[in-house]
Formats: sequence, structure tokens, C-alpha cells
Amino acid sequence: MNLLTIFLIISNCLLLTIIFIGYYFRKKILKKSTFDNLSLSGSGPTNCLSHQNELAKGSCMICGEYWCADCIKTHKNLNFCTQHFLLFNSSTWDQALNIKTSENNSENGLILYKFKENIWNKQKFPTFIQTHYKINLEEDYIETYISLYCIKSDLEKIRKQFDSFSST
Ligand SMILES: [Zn+2]
Ligand SMILES: [Zn+2]
Repeated sequence: MNLLTIFLIISNCLLLTIIFIGYYFRKKILKKSTFDNLSLSGSGPTNCLSHQNELAKGSCMICGEYWCADCIKTHKNLNFCTQHFLLFNSSTWDQALNIKTSENNSENGLILYKFKENIWNKQKFPTFIQTHYKINLEEDYIETYISLYCIKSDLEKIRKQFDSFSST
């Protein structure tokens, strides 16, 4: 084996690794942007709810309203308005619902977004949604989980309401 063969083998291995990593990464990004965009209604810039002249930087995970950089508070990757940031920090949160979406049915998590909006609009139950990814090594795909979190003491009420919401 000469030096050129060794060099070719090494560069081929490198290339394959890069393609492999790129494949997973692209899939992950595609999924993430699909779900993150679901919460955005309409297009174009929106202004802050309490500062009408300021462009909104993002929306609150709990109330869904749009807020400027001064109003938005961030915890890890979660955005909250000032009021709900306080609520987030002063409450104990628990996972009320968890839906696994699959490649061929990636829209079955949508019901959680609709349910969240419904209980917020009608009863002002504070909840927020997070998306989790897990690589399934055996089946070679990324599993996506959509989870709804609520204040621990609301857990049973939320689950009961979801049962009747999803059966209608
Ligand atoms: Zn809020
Ligand atoms: Zn503001």
C-alpha cells in the first residue's frame, strides 16, 4: 500500500463522516423550523404589545403575545414576557402531555398547539410547549416529541380537558 492509497482511504472516510453528520443536522433543522413556525400567525414584522413603536423581538411561550427586546426575558431557549417570566420562575412546572410525531405523520402534534391556544384563550391556563428530539439509532431516524408543560397543580385539570378536547 503506497502513501497515495492511504491518503485516499482517509479522505474518503472523512468525506463520509461529513455527509453523515450533515444529513442528521439538516433533518433536525428542517423539523425544528417546521414546528417553531407554527406558533407564528401571519407574516411580516409585529410590534411590541406594550411599546407600540418598538418592533417585536419574539413571542412569549405562555401568552403568545409579541414583545420587544426590553420586554422579552429569556431562560435557556425559552422566551417569556416580563409577567410570565416571573410566573415561570415562581412556579413548579410539570409535563402534562407528550406526543410523539413520526416521519409519515408529522402533523399529529398540531393538536397540542390548538389545545394550548384554546385553554389560554378560554380559561387563561398558563402552559408552554417544547419540542424534543431523540435519535433512534436502531431505526435510523430522529424522533420528535411535542410536550405541553403546565403548573403542577393544574396537571389533572389540563389532562382531563385534553381528553374531552381531543375527542370532539
Ligand atoms: Zn406572556
Ligand atoms: Zn416592549
